[in-house]
Amino acid sequence: MKTFKLISLTIITLLFGASSLYGYYRDLEVVRYVSATIKGIGWSSSELEMELLKFDQSLTALMAQTADEENAQLRFELLWSRIDTLLTGEENRPVREQPGILPMLESFSRQLERWEGRVYALTAGDRAEITALRQELAHYRKLAREINVESFSGDKVWQQLDIIQDIRLRSSLYLGGLLLSGGLMLLLLLRENRRNRHMAYHDMLTGLPNRMYFYQLIDKALSRVQRERGALAVHMVDLNSFKAINDSLGHEVGDSLLREIAVRLSDTIGEQGQVARLGGDEFVIIQQFEHIEDAELMATRLFESLSRDVQLPDGCLSPQACIGTSLYPKHGTTVPELLSHADTAMYYAKHSRKTMVQMFEPGMDERRLRRQKLAVSLQAAIEQNLLALHYQPIFRLNSGAIESVEALLRWNSAEHGFISPLELIAVAEQHGLAHRLNEWVLSQACRQLHCWHQAGFDWLKVNVNISPNIFMEGELARTVSGVLRDTGLDVSTLVLEITEDTSLWDTAGSVETLQELRELGIEIALDDFGTGYSSFSHLRQLPINKLKIDKSFVADLSTDPRAFNLVKAIISLAESLDMTVTAEGIELPEQQALLQQLGCGLGQGYLLAKPMPVEAMNDLLSQDQRRSRSA
Ligand code: C2E
Ligand code: MG
Ligand code: MG
Repeated sequence: MKTFKLISLTIITLLFGASSLYGYYRDLEVVRYVSATIKGIGWSSSELEMELLKFDQSLTALMAQTADEENAQLRFELLWSRIDTLLTGEENRPVREQPGILPMLESFSRQLERWEGRVYALTAGDRAEITALRQELAHYRKLAREINVESFSGDKVWQQLDIIQDIRLRSSLYLGGLLLSGGLMLLLLLRENRRNRHMAYHDMLTGLPNRMYFYQLIDKALSRVQRERGALAVHMVDLNSFKAINDSLGHEVGDSLLREIAVRLSDTIGEQGQVARLGGDEFVIIQQFEHIEDAELMATRLFESLSRDVQLPDGCLSPQACIGTSLYPKHGTTVPELLSHADTAMYYAKHSRKTMVQMFEPGMDERRLRRQKLAVSLQAAIEQNLLALHYQPIFRLNSGAIESVEALLRWNSAEHGFISPLELIAVAEQHGLAHRLNEWVLSQACRQLHCWHQAGFDWLKVNVNISPNIFMEGELARTVSGVLRDTGLDVSTLVLEITEDTSLWDTAGSVETLQELRELGIEIALDDFGTGYSSFSHLRQLPINKLKIDKSFVADLSTDPRAFNLVKAIISLAESLDMTVTAEGIELPEQQALLQQLGCGLGQGYLLAKPMPVEAMNDLLSQDQRRSRSA
């Protein structure tokens, strides 16, 4: 396509130039023809006058006897033949076409016919005859003189000279104009071409090289380091929760965020490499480096540059990104290898929840492959209803009565064995199955609760874990109310548990989702409290009414005074904010005793009851009911 455009452009330019030059030379031809005609007329008329003069002189010489009759006859013949050429010669047509010339020539020719006999009869002694002839000749000499003068200086000549000038000027202007417009056209076409090229190779939003151009850049960079025996790092960057930002805050905010990210990445890499946007929220940076530490340091610097708050018209956003890095030649020697390894490392960072910056390691590929296989099996398992929920009771610590049950996902895959719910959720989020999975858990748990209510345990609540991605998609309220409608459950019996490792809690959209859920009458518990990023301002802003103290604090409760003080502080904080506290992971009686002593309302843990299938839960509920009746 590019070659076709170039060829067309060259042909157009050549045609244009050729036709301009052809026009110019045509005008020059005209000028040359007209000047030649003027010159021809002038020359012919002066020749005629000359011949007349010579004939006249031959007559004078005959009379003075300095020349003979033959000389006079020769001059007469020459004069006649001159008249004949003027009358018939094709090259003399312009002369004949001069007004008044043709009749004069014809009458002169007739006169010569009449003179012929007299001239041939002349002798040197015929003085009277010679004088008479000369007198008659004088009339024609006068005429020839006039024509001659006219042909050099008459109005016609001036007019023709003016025309020539005019044509010359016009054709020069014409040629100049054509060349100028041709040049301009060429310039415009080239500019357009350059613009199209830029657009084809750059991302419109950020101005960075796009995916297509990136492949050329990395190819070049790789050939260079291969030649120079250098090293190259590929840093793959992916923003966390970009889709949620776009959905909740609007595309304009999303666009400004991407532009800001592009500027920060470009500023950070500077002269050391190049940044490209591969699409969506995916950026890639190539860096030429000397020591591995330089590449590691750059990955950290890129991450830090992205973690600074972005100022928005209605507040600020703390973007979070994951970076995966692969190195040439350590991890791969071809572009596909390097890109796929950087991508694997980036995915690892995204889903490990341990680190945001990750260097590729050989085992990661296998993990990724396993997750891909898991995703396929998981999809089938959801469709075939092969997943199960176990329930772990949450007890009131003062009375020992069951308050609620937490639904926990279980999957014993025939192919892969038991898969932990955390890995399951990660796989589902990675492969776009999180929504369906959460919906399945929600409706399954609500249906089960409905059964328990019908069996007489109508005070029972159910806690359902919601993965952060779903919470950020903003459709949660609709999904939840749909499930509640389908099962006919009382909204106040549903508690949604949300882990606090979402970075989006600053955004209005997330607060709105929570608000909507609270307005529906649903309780919201902040799960694994103390391990995530929540600050006091989150607790103040978010409509949460339950806190679940993470089991890591409970585990150290009896041995670590700091853990004890922290739990104590959390409980009093929750109390002052009018929130219910649940302690997770109670495994020892002394932990339970300390929690009771600190006034913790609810508790959950292996000591009290492990997560169990529905049947076992039925028995436990019946036991619990019997116990509370007897009490
Ligand atoms: P979580 O919501 O904090 O759930 C409590 C986890 O602690 C459960 O692990 C439970 O079995 C475990 N646990 C309970 N008592 C004790 C104890 O005394 N000691 C110890 N060490 N552990 C205890 P599980 O079932 O493996 O679930 C792990 C995490 O996976 C859950 O943490 C939750 O974040 C997530 N998860 C589980 N089911 C679901 C689900 O249906 N949807 C979503 N989105 N996440 C789920
Ligand atoms: Mg939970
Ligand atoms: Mg928890």
